[in-house]
Amino acid sequence: MAIATINPFTGQTEQEFEAHSEEEVDRRIASAHEAFHTLRATSFAQRAEWMRAAAQLLEDDVEELARLITIEMGRPIKGARAEVLKCAKGLRYYADNAESLLAPEQLADPSVVGASAAGTRYAPIGVVLAVMPWNYPLWQVLRFAGPALMAGNTGLLKHASNVPQAALYLDTLFERAGFPEGAFHTLLIPASRVEAVLRDPRVKAATLTGSEPAGRSLAAIAGSEVKHVVLELGGSDPFVVMSSADVDKAATVAVTARNQNNGQSCIAAKRFIVHTDVYDEFTRLFAERVAALKVGDPLDESTDVGPLATESGRDELEGQVADAVAKGAHALTGGYVPDREGWFYEPTVLGGVTPEMRLHLEEAFGPVATVYRVADREEAVRVANGTTFGLSSAVWTTDPEEEDWFVRNLDAGAVFINGMTASYPELPFGGVKDSGVGRELAAAGIREFCNLQTVWKG
Ligand code: NAP
Repeated sequence: MAIATINPFTGQTEQEFEAHSEEEVDRRIASAHEAFHTLRATSFAQRAEWMRAAAQLLEDDVEELARLITIEMGRPIKGARAEVLKCAKGLRYYADNAESLLAPEQLADPSVVGASAAGTRYAPIGVVLAVMPWNYPLWQVLRFAGPALMAGNTGLLKHASNVPQAALYLDTLFERAGFPEGAFHTLLIPASRVEAVLRDPRVKAATLTGSEPAGRSLAAIAGSEVKHVVLELGGSDPFVVMSSADVDKAATVAVTARNQNNGQSCIAAKRFIVHTDVYDEFTRLFAERVAALKVGDPLDESTDVGPLATESGRDELEGQVADAVAKGAHALTGGYVPDREGWFYEPTVLGGVTPEMRLHLEEAFGPVATVYRVADREEAVRVANGTTFGLSSAVWTTDPEEEDWFVRNLDAGAVFINGMTASYPELPFGGVKDSGVGRELAAAGIREFCNLQTVWKG
């Protein structure tokens, strides 16, 4: 895949970039390695000051950045703007909280281990490689970089090949904010050159957000090098609507939960599992409201759904729907590629999905929802847990006993009750099963790339 900005609304290549040479990559790894020794010696207060300056730069550049996101990957401009501001907020959260999240802990009675004092501290580990996807080109990177740099680590970014201008903006962001040169660098390289970077002894760990095959490949290399990895991979999140639910509200939220970011979100609700008592009402409202979404130019402020980020992604989605329809599924709305320029797919709701269809098991990375009718909560959980993924989940019910029952029985990294899944700096984020290992965000996220060091004093 060429490293290039290709506008998904027009299909036109706007700018191409040369990959960094091996010498340049080596220079950047060396610089990140050097910067680690400087950064680890700085105080939390100093790093927090720089981190707040980085947040301010994002806010100052919000319009330029939002436009860049929209042109590189097609996200409607209002969502792109919200992403930039969310990043600024996330960086400030780590500026304010990193020190307390990483506070040392002491045993109350050190004599039980024969010490005068004993406990743990969180030390940074060094250069961390981040392999990131295009779907939230700033947020995916900054939710890693904010905590990593506040902990005293340095970062190297291998961004997706279709968002090079976002990658180059991030290359200089932290240095502009005051961090030492080398604290954070972008490597403009294809995926085939990730292995050599990860095997470099100066690189201590890696995080990858992206597809399952990419995650497996990175984890295998990290395993052979005995290096820690965090993987945030795909999802096919269930959105369960039970008979006691506020069906009208659930249907409205379902539209956003599925179609936000043109349907290209790992934590988008993808499978809608609806109790038979409210199935007809929910699917009618859901399909009507999906059909009312405004599809069009992502730079237009009133657009709800823009084009998919890549032509191959659109073709993949078209193939999944065609397979389902050929095997008996039916479209309640959408189900086709609209006759227009750009990599659009019409927002779609599909009923009658059965286990032999690809869409039953695969992730649909675009604006395509599947709806399932279920008889009771046991069947709802069987369908919800019936994929290899386990990222997040949502349940709509007003019965408190049922809420707890679903929380206990869903195999997912998160359960949202009467709301849609979102990521917050204050809450851990990550999946189980093939959706990944480890956590980002909150205390769990910042501690992933730390050495939990035991300190014993005689
Ligand atoms: P992708 O093809 O896996 O790409 C993600 C990143 O990995 C890109 O930088 C890509 O580089 C690189 N890459 C691809 N193959 C690689 C390999 N074998 N070794 C090392 N690096 C490799 O994923 P995508 O299509 O861009 O993103 C969509 C997927 O990401 C979906 O499955 C989605 O659910 C998942 N996702 C998960 C989360 C989460 O938090 N769990 C968040 C967002 C997205 P190139 O671009 O150069 O190929």
